[in-house]
Amino acid sequence: MSLSRRAFLKFGSATAAGVAVGARGIDLAPVEAAATSLKIREAKAFHGVCPYCAVGCGQLVYAKGDRIIDIEGDPDTPHTQGRLCPKGAATIQLSNNPLRPTKALYRAPGADAWEEKPLEWMYTEIAKRYYDAREKHFIEKEKDKDGKLVTVNRLEAIASLGSACIDNEECYLLSKLNRTLGIVYHEHQARV
Ligand code: SF4
Repeated sequence: MSLSRRAFLKFGSATAAGVAVGARGIDLAPVEAAATSLKIREAKAFHGVCPYCAVGCGQLVYAKGDRIIDIEGDPDTPHTQGRLCPKGAATIQLSNNPLRPTKALYRAPGADAWEEKPLEWMYTEIAKRYYDAREKHFIEKEKDKDGKLVTVNRLEAIASLGSACIDNEECYLLSKLNRTLGIVYHEHQARV
């Protein structure tokens, strides 16, 4: 009899707690052999929820000491049964990612080469440009179709494209910021 992915994942997560799947008729020998070499062996499992989108897939976060060593789908989540999309499957990179850029790349107007800049410099520059564009282009009132002046409080000089690498809370904050500034061109790539 073959072993389902759900049963396999449950077995993997249960090794630390000492719970055996042990359903009658299932040959666990190959799984047991694989489990002894799993990197999550002896790790402590915590329940979590993927932070990236409203699907809210359950996750099992495995930690050894103070370090997260693996994140997988939680097989006990009713609507996903242990599955994660590619983005959710890479959630561990939020915690451990030696390739994460720590400097910004900037190409000045008219320049043909990128230069490295500290992130703080880039934050300040973005804030400055947001401020200048809003001061210059903010539309407070506009005529409606009948020629009557109405309040619109709109900023059309900035378009905001949210990143697929930011989580639910960061998207919420970005949305709040944009609407506060009056930005109407507000888009986000929410998934993969
Ligand atoms: S990003 Fe993917 S894994 Fe995360 S909650 Fe959404 S669908 Fe689930």
